[in-house]
Amino acid sequence: MAETLTHCDGCDLCGLRCSSGVPCTLEEWDGVKDFINAADELTRAKISCVARQDKTLSLGDDVSVQMCRYRDMESGGCVVYPARPLICRLLGHVPWMPCPVDKVPHTIPVEKSVELMRSYSEFERNTFEQWEEKE
Ligand code: SF4
Ligand code: SF4
Repeated sequence: MAETLTHCDGCDLCGLRCSSGVPCTLEEWDGVKDFINAADELTRAKISCVARQDKTLSLGDDVSVQMCRYRDMESGGCVVYPARPLICRLLGHVPWMPCPVDKVPHTIPVEKSVELMRSYSEFERNTFEQWEEKE
């Protein structure tokens, strides 16, 4: 998997799929917070700034979608990319979420990805906002 991830380096072409409501485990949520806490002052300021952006993405015809709090609505990209949850990491690498521009040549095989999701679903998962509310 690490090998295929290199195809995504510097690419933001599936960023439009970063809508709000991404579920993650408590460990992943803690990982995001640890990443932010360990970041330098400038990075923390940027993350804080991005988190306060209006996350409404207009799709035209009065249709809009709310994007993830960590999606930079101005420059694109994910400001917690190294700590992003599994669902974000799988985008482009599993059969049901293929790379939209075919840059990732090999997806994780169906059987393996189903097994991965089955184990993952055994953990409690909530959105970033829900974990925050629980604190
Ligand atoms: S999955 Fe495809 S579109 Fe998304 S970041 Fe990787 S190469 Fe880019
Ligand atoms: S955590 Fe990052 S990669 Fe995942 S949905 Fe949010 S902005 Fe996108």
